[in-house]
Amino acid sequence: SIMSIVSINPTSGEQIKTYDTLTLDDVNRKIEQTHQAWNSWKKSGHAERSRLLTNMAGVLRKHRQPLATLMANEMGKPVIQGLDEIEKCAVCCEYYAANAPAHLADRVIETEASRSYASFQPLGVILAVMPWNFPLWQVFRFLAPALAAGNCGVLKHASNVPGCALAIEQIVNEAGFPEHVFQTLLIGSNLIDKVIENQHIKAVTLTGSNNAGIAVASKAGTFLKRTVLELGGSDAYVVLADADLEHAAETCVGSRLINSGQSCIAAKRFIVEAPVAEAFTQMFLKKMQEKVVGDPLALSTDVGPQARQDLRDELHNQVLKSIEKGASCILGGTVAPGKHAFYPPTILTNVQPGMPAYDEELFGPVASIITAKDEADALRIANDSDFGLGSAVFTSNKEKGENIARNILEAGSSYVNERVKSDPRLPFGGIKNSGYGRELSSFGIHEFVNIKTVYIK
Ligand code: NDP
Repeated sequence: SIMSIVSINPTSGEQIKTYDTLTLDDVNRKIEQTHQAWNSWKKSGHAERSRLLTNMAGVLRKHRQPLATLMANEMGKPVIQGLDEIEKCAVCCEYYAANAPAHLADRVIETEASRSYASFQPLGVILAVMPWNFPLWQVFRFLAPALAAGNCGVLKHASNVPGCALAIEQIVNEAGFPEHVFQTLLIGSNLIDKVIENQHIKAVTLTGSNNAGIAVASKAGTFLKRTVLELGGSDAYVVLADADLEHAAETCVGSRLINSGQSCIAAKRFIVEAPVAEAFTQMFLKKMQEKVVGDPLALSTDVGPQARQDLRDELHNQVLKSIEKGASCILGGTVAPGKHAFYPPTILTNVQPGMPAYDEELFGPVASIITAKDEADALRIANDSDFGLGSAVFTSNKEKGENIARNILEAGSSYVNERVKSDPRLPFGGIKNSGYGRELSSFGIHEFVNIKTVYIK
């Protein structure tokens, strides 16, 4: 049966467009087409793949303005940040164009054989289940290495960004890739099980909530298909008493508010050593107050609406529950009437275990400030989380910072005096409930290849 996907502008609540979803027959036909495309694509050489990836970077840049506007309309991302996102996608394509040949070169391993080595062979069609928060970046960080490795892809994008999903397919085609190496499947999550079951789907990568990750990985497990999961986070930013507080506050506010607070690697819990807690909180408050909330199409806007009203309401509930349990709200925390999905920059202090602001991910512009007795207490609190995506520590003692980052913080990445960023050159992913597997860098491209041993007596 045909369902529809409706995109709604979160700034105004107005409906943008309605799209018919694919039937199961359509889906299976498209997967078959992409599998056929893979039969040729897997034989393409690095020179060809790199040339097309470089073209794709150019296509992205050429269309950056309408693409940034599309994201602003569908999910409320301020255009300035949208332009940065598109540039990042282009850089990722160029990174793999330049580096995939080396990542995937045969690795000779000396044995008693006349020659033995590991080679990296493509797997086939990869299913990507992706979220709305970085509608282009989340897809390109999967797609660029997948294509570079000789894989093909089908995308099930979040239901609130169908325009972005279709735009990505057009970008791939305009770059000159062979027909069907990548296709968008406009479907609801109800058809995902059928897609995973399809014999041509060889692996699945998902970025999104824990529930979605568990559902998809369980299904994939039933069919012994490999998964990479990039799930939520509740990144702790530890501010030690010897930190440059001005720099720490600036970095923390920037990280909390990226993408209007809707980033898996946004700083979410600010754990501050008691002697500097008050000073840090005041600096943090001032910088949060300075941020401009408004129309994502306006160039002066720092914080746009949340992507959907239901997500905004869920966030507000988490804030109200935390206040009910004793947190103090020193900024924001109220919803203005209307059909929009805006939520104001909000700060909660006195955050304690048992409150959503302590235990759960707050996927919006809400900062939880937690005061720690001392350094050991701060690090204990930082690790007192089900999540383990990113983390950061601020201290003027670089050596101490490095030890904390390397050995103590439980996360997929730990930064010293800097905010956590995804960078094509560095591996990206989590531990604990934040997921498993890595994206980007050489580690990311090796997730979806057959590491094939070749042995010649
Ligand atoms: P979801 O995890 O529900 O959506 C992410 C993707 O998974 C979408 O394509 C979605 O499709 C799909 N999906 C959802 N449920 C299933 C399922 N059971 N089987 C297969 N696919 C599924 O995120 P939400 O939009 O609901 O956001 C909720 C929360 O998720 C956020 O508040 C945040 O905590 C977290 N999140 C984390 C992100 C990250 O970057 N790690 C990004 C986005 C959200 P569809 O849209 O059709 O439901």
